[in-house]
This record gives sequence, C-alpha cells and structure tokens, in this order.
Amino acid sequence: MVKLTFHGGVEEIGGNKILLEDQDTKIFLDFGMSFKRRGLYFEEFLSPRTANGMGDFLRMELIPDIPGIYREDLLEHIGRKPKEADIAGVILSHAHADHANYISFLHKDIPIYCGETCKYILDAVQEQSQRTLENEVIDYKKRPIFRSDYRKPPIKRTFRTFRTGKKLTIGPLEIEPIHVDHSVPGSYGLIIHTSQGPIIYSGDIRMHGLHADMTTDFIDAAKKSKPIAMITEGTRIDKEKSNESEKKVHSDSKKEISKCKHLSIVDFNFKDADRFTTFYNIAKELGKKLVISFRHACFLERYHQDKKLQTPNITDENILLLKPKRQTGTYIDGDYTEKYIKKRLQYSNIITAEDIAKKPTKYMVVLNFWYFTTLIDLQPKNSVYIHSLSEPFNEEMEISYERMRNWLNHFDLRFAQSHCSGHIHGSDLKELIQTINPKILYPIHTEHPGMFKKIPIKVQIVKEGKTYKL
Ligand SMILES: [Zn+2]
Ligand SMILES: [Zn+2]
Repeated sequence: MVKLTFHGGVEEIGGNKILLEDQDTKIFLDFGMSFKRRGLYFEEFLSPRTANGMGDFLRMELIPDIPGIYREDLLEHIGRKPKEADIAGVILSHAHADHANYISFLHKDIPIYCGETCKYILDAVQEQSQRTLENEVIDYKKRPIFRSDYRKPPIKRTFRTFRTGKKLTIGPLEIEPIHVDHSVPGSYGLIIHTSQGPIIYSGDIRMHGLHADMTTDFIDAAKKSKPIAMITEGTRIDKEKSNESEKKVHSDSKKEISKCKHLSIVDFNFKDADRFTTFYNIAKELGKKLVISFRHACFLERYHQDKKLQTPNITDENILLLKPKRQTGTYIDGDYTEKYIKKRLQYSNIITAEDIAKKPTKYMVVLNFWYFTTLIDLQPKNSVYIHSLSEPFNEEMEISYERMRNWLNHFDLRFAQSHCSGHIHGSDLKELIQTINPKILYPIHTEHPGMFKKIPIKVQIVKEGKTYKL
C-alpha cells in the first residue's frame, strides 16, 4: 500500500513537506519552511522564542505534530519523550528555504538526500548566516545551550548527495533524481518507483531559464515511466505565456547599464547562479569589474567547485570584494569578527566603497536593499539601479519597497526592473502535465489548486494532513 500525506505546500507557495509511505518505509519529499504561515503570526521583531525550543513552532502549527521525526534534544526540552527516527530519509529537491529549512528540526538519524550542488549551497548559506533554530540544516547545537556548552561542536546531519541519473534505493523505493531548470542550481525532479508504480515529483521547475534542456530531460524520463501519480508545483498556474527569459534579463540589463555614465548598481539573489553569470557576463562585456560582498564570496567559491556551473573563481580578474565598514570605520582587520569575513581578509581583490567612488564608471556593484547605507559612501550620481528580483507580492514587501524607492530618489538612482521567474507559467505547465500524463495529479505549492481542474487529467485537490491512498 502506497500513501501520500501533505503536511505543507497546501494552498500556499512553498513549505513542502510530503510524507510518502510504501509498506513500512516512510520518506519525506522536502521539509521546507512555510513563509505564509509563519507570516500569519511572526515578523521581523516578533519571532518564535529560542527559549521555548520547538514549542512555539508546534503550538502555532508551523511544523506538523508527528511522532518519530523530531530531534531528541528539542523533544526533551519541551518535556516530551524522545523517540527513535521513524523516517528513512528526506529527499530534498533543492536548496530554497521553502523546501529545505525545517530539516533543522528533524532527528539526526534521518539522512538527507540531495544534489551535490544543493549541498554546496546549503554549506554557503550556513557559513554566512547566524545560527537559529530555523537555520540548522547542515548541523545543530543541542538545546538548550547552556553557557558551558558554547564551545561544544555542533551535531552533524548525514547527507547523501547525488547527481542526475543516479538511482537511490530506500527500502522498497527506487528513486531517480533528474535535473531540472529552476532559479537555483542543483534542482531536481524525482521519479519514485514504488511497489505500486512510479510517482513523479516536480520540485520547483521552469522552461525559460538557461537550462530548459534539463527540464526537458525530466519530462522525457517522467513520461517514459508511465506514472500512476504526479505531484506538481503550480506557483504560476494563473499566468499566461510571456516573453520573459534569462536571455532577456541579460539584454535588458545590459542596455540600461550601457546608458549609465556613472556607477552601476544591481541587485539579485546570489543563490541564482545563472543570474550571477548574467551580470558577470554583462560586466565583462562592458569592461567593468563586478563588485560582490563577502557573503556572496561564500557562494561563489562553492559554485566554482562544481565544474558544470562554469562560474569564475573568486580570484577572477573581473571580480572584486567589497569590504564593509564596521566598528571603527577605518577598515582595520580588528574590525571584523565574523568568521566568513576574517578568513578572507587577506584576499588581494578587496576594495572599499571610497575606492569605488573615485572611479565609478569602472564598477558594477551588487548591492541589496539591506546594505543601502553603503550608498552614502559610494556617492552615486545619476546612476542606475537594476532590481533583478521579483516585485513585492505582500504588504510587508510593499513597505520595504517604498523605503527602497526613497533611497533611490535621494541618490537620483534610476530604477530598472529586470527579472524572470524561477517558475514555469500556466501554459507550459499544462502542456508539461499532459505530456507526462499521470493517472492522477496532486497540485501543491500553489494558491490556485482549483485551476488545475481545467486540465483533462484526474486532479486530486489535497487537504493538509489528509492521507491519500494510491
Ligand atoms: Zn518553492
Ligand atoms: Zn524553489
């Protein structure tokens, strides 16, 4: 008997936590954080209390209450009896937080299966972020942390990495991960061969990036397997075909930057290695140096380890590292306490905002809104700011967006939006589903599951926590 239970990703974008059971074997497909649900109760200065361990997360239903999946230390902390792990593994489709981050709560004996590049990205995320309960995917510190425990090493999780085409065997399940195109490298769709037949899981997917051929590989293999069921993402099921593409981001952004006779500033998500490549290439083509942050360096160095990504090394002649102003404001070594900065202070390609301001036309600076105070030192004049991120889609984002616009106006920065989505649009998705032709479809990772009913395929609209037998 094969069963599916959806503990997240139901009528929301992300937060996927799908339990698949085949006889006595249980696995999870992703175990992500639900931004929507978290946002119902929490915001920047109102977060779940570390002091209450996983208690606040359970009580506010940010994680499902299931026995045999959570960390022993966290259960003990809230007065529950720790249990042995009852899950054979989590197959992580990709490194986005809405799929990965709540692995942080899982039992140490549950192995995590993910792509090799996905692991590199998780390592980079861990290196430059502060340890919190929601950010302990790679390893965790036993809670509660008493002062005497500060120096104790963290407990490492078991990761088993794969590349496309490799088959994983977990109990009666044989799982084939196949690369797909998405806005982060190391993204996979899955063909899960169960004792009742193959089940397809799309992960997050698109057709208009630089690697649409990878998605095509997935579609071909999924179709050939003659699946009994398919679990698909539907982020943009309500969107029609458009002319967006990564190539268009390149040409539009290049045009804007060419027009600029002063400093060029760009902002994009560094987890998106394709977007990095787009801006790196533009900088090279226009004879500018691309200035990135120490945080970005954590990612770039790992991308470079993956030869297939063909990204430059941190020592590349077209890349510079922006030294942030800290403590004394004099850029002395002693100003930096973060490990990820300290270990890179001796790099030869470090530059300060003041240096950049002397010859602004020579540089293209990657600068996120949260670091806009750097604009005060960069002193841009009639410059351009390329916003290569999605537009705001909720109230909180609107408020930040408004503030960002104020900064841009204050420094006479011309705003240009240039972005393409990480998700397949409705027309392509409908075609993809009909090509794969599963016997039954479970739409998740969407706010519009009802829209899938228009496709001439049997659709099961899922309810959170309900178990579906195949
Ligand atoms: Zn997602
Ligand atoms: Zn994603």
